Amino acid sequence: MELWDFHTHRSDQPLAIFNEMEPRRNVQATCSMGIHPWDLDIHWEDRLRVIQDISSLNSHVLAIGETGFDRLKGPAIALQKGAFYAQARWAKTLGIPLIFHCVKGHDLLLEYLKSERNPPAIIWHGWNLKPELARQLLPFPVYFSFGKHLLQEESNARIWLMECPSERIFFETDDSGLEIGSIYQAASLILRLPLESLAMQVISNWNAISKRKIS
Ligand SMILES: [Zn+2]
Repeated sequence: MELWDFHTHRSDQPLAIFNEMEPRRNVQATCSMGIHPWDLDIHWEDRLRVIQDISSLNSHVLAIGETGFDRLKGPAIALQKGAFYAQARWAKTLGIPLIFHCVKGHDLLLEYLKSERNPPAIIWHGWNLKPELARQLLPFPVYFSFGKHLLQEESNARIWLMECPSERIFFETDDSGLEIGSIYQAASLILRLPLESLAMQVISNWNAISKRKIS
């Protein structure tokens, strides 16, 4: 069974989107590339050019990211917005999703979505916020990737998974060290759906929003 992991920091996983922290030219495995808000400095445009160079030619790059907003650990918000908007434009140009990191920046994403007529598909990774906040994003092409929080009783992730439209769902391990199977297993119990149908659902979700397909 194909259990895709849509965002991981473990490089040794098959069927996974490995988050490349340093953009490398010769990537051989499916990955994402972007500038994390923690790594942002005034030279981000040079780094973005490298990412654009690589990702335009190498179809192993399935997504741009992780990138986004972080009010706790990131630099000035103006810098974060500039870098995020540029990366979002690039994801749209390639026709691939953007993997979104967010800490206390939900309002910044909404501001972006309301101002941008043509946003890419944005996958909010590690979703664990209140359902009200998720509902505000549903008019936009925003998707939700669920990870370790599904294993916690009464978590916001669990509550939102039950309500979230099925075509908006993805699964991930991120940096948790968990096996992706345990995340699917948790989701399967929460949703009372067989693992196989979840596995097929998320693959078709991906292929509906990306020019770079998976199987
Ligand atoms: Zn991550």
